[in-house]
Amino acid sequence: MGNPTGFIEIDRELPADRAPKERIRDWNEFHDHMHEEKLQEQGARCMDCGIPFCHTGNLVAGMASGCPINNLIPEWNDLVYRGLWREALERLHKTNNFPEFTGRVCPAPCEGSCVLGISEPPVTIKNIEAAIIDKGFLEGWVKPEPPEKRTGKHVGVVGSGPAGLAAADQLNKEGHEVTVYERADRIGGLLMYGIPNMKLDKKVVQRRIDLMAAEGVKFVTNTEVGKDLPAAKLLKDFDAVILAGGATKPRDLKIPGRELNGIHFAMEFLHANTKTLLDGRPTENYITAKDKHVLVIGGGDTGTDCVGTSMRHGCRSLTQLEILPKPPDERAANNPWPEWPKVYLLDYGQQEAKAVFGDDPRAYLTTAKEFIGDENGQVRAIRTVKIEWQKDENGRFTPKDVPGTEKEIPADLVLLAMGFLGPEDTILDGLGVERDARSNAKAEPGLYTTNIEGVFAAGDMRRGQSLVVWAIQEGRAAAAAVDKYLMMTK
Ligand SMILES: Cc1cc2nc3c(=O)[nH]c(=O)nc-3n(C[C@H](O)[C@H](O)[C@H](O)COP(=O)(O)OP(=O)(O)OC[C@H]3O[C@@H](n4cnc5c(N)ncnc54)[C@H](O)[C@@H]3O)c2cc1C
Ligand code: SF4
Repeated sequence: MGNPTGFIEIDRELPADRAPKERIRDWNEFHDHMHEEKLQEQGARCMDCGIPFCHTGNLVAGMASGCPINNLIPEWNDLVYRGLWREALERLHKTNNFPEFTGRVCPAPCEGSCVLGISEPPVTIKNIEAAIIDKGFLEGWVKPEPPEKRTGKHVGVVGSGPAGLAAADQLNKEGHEVTVYERADRIGGLLMYGIPNMKLDKKVVQRRIDLMAAEGVKFVTNTEVGKDLPAAKLLKDFDAVILAGGATKPRDLKIPGRELNGIHFAMEFLHANTKTLLDGRPTENYITAKDKHVLVIGGGDTGTDCVGTSMRHGCRSLTQLEILPKPPDERAANNPWPEWPKVYLLDYGQQEAKAVFGDDPRAYLTTAKEFIGDENGQVRAIRTVKIEWQKDENGRFTPKDVPGTEKEIPADLVLLAMGFLGPEDTILDGLGVERDARSNAKAEPGLYTTNIEGVFAAGDMRRGQSLVVWAIQEGRAAAAAVDKYLMMTK
């Protein structure tokens, strides 16, 4: 560690985001870049704490604490401080195939468990991670490096999200021939068609895919395995198969009026929007929020992306319903370090809505009771009610309506962003893969093997809807299991 007193002398600093009212006029990323010297200064805040929790990646109280892919954070912070950017990049690529994705979209559980964070604002880990890889591409240090030898073994990967891509990248590096199948028209899974452009530029995603293709990974788009390609053929053609199809079944809200027009799942809205931007013309099923009263139901990442997208369309008003209470500004006593800090945040979409409409659009402890339509069968409003969380006879917290708090909110576009129920059935049923109690593909923890010989499962398809960083972790670990299986048994 080069600067033993950096954490005392230097305050935490992040690059300023672009001003909300300016950035909603385009689809470019909302983050600005920080000058290299400033980044080096921030790296110097890493304090040689002895036991760095930032790279532990454990589940504490059910949530990630520390980096799930065990990034060598103190090492690359120090290298950045000393201006050794290329060496920092080498360290970063040892554990993370795609730091340009995590450096942009990861919620950074590493920072929540940073030891400096016990008493001071934590080290700016995520921002430094993005800067290292961006510089790596800019300087031309990241180049295709195809394997020197091929093993002659073939692996099929179903799904091209971060789990499938990480697995493919690792196995290709080992010399196996890898083919990735994707039912969409572009590779990337939710990196391409879920997380919107302003958070993750699609050129950044495509750049990595092109690199992997140049290294020998084969990509097949517009092919749904189980429909366009029989699942049994996959088993015949490949020595091993990894299922990484995500957990894309959306949770519905079956209340009166659900059949009205103008009510969509969030992913219908987000997918069509990104495809329209990439194709340069409105796609079939494109949904516009322009001049509409938009109501987003659900307060997570997906809901935020619906807010940010609607703001860029030029919506007339925006309300977001959140069934949970507003989190505290500081960690609560029952949420100590190094747990994931459950604190109030104004994410990018809400910042933009606040800049235009004057307030955070989220209505906390509020749920929808009924959609109200007009004479043409189009939704025009929603009836909401405040709720209280009360313990039932089994001691479980359940929401209870608060009498007298019903309200009608105008809504001519409703976006359902209430999470996902698990993976779709096509491929799992097609292969006869067993499910766990949450309907995810059942695969042995740490081994990634399913009940079908030679078939492995990883990412959201195995663990349920999660984070990009967990998908990368699962893809890497499943690839290691597949490599062992191929080299020892085939
Ligand atoms: C709107 C949204 C925003 C998000 N924002 C963030 C964020 O900011 N940060 C973060 O860390 N996480 C975020 N997440 C979560 C994150 O994107 C996922 O956890 C991650 O992408 C899961 O990776 P995966 O590879 O397991 O699956 P996915 O990314 O879902 O990819 C699976 C792919 O498999 C394909 N597929 C499925 N079945 C078949 C088949 N039979 N044949 C061929 N292809 C098939 C699908 O089309 C899909 O492209 C977000 C999720 C959503 C929905
Ligand atoms: S991948 Fe996420 S948790 Fe890991 S170092 Fe990067 S920002 Fe932190």
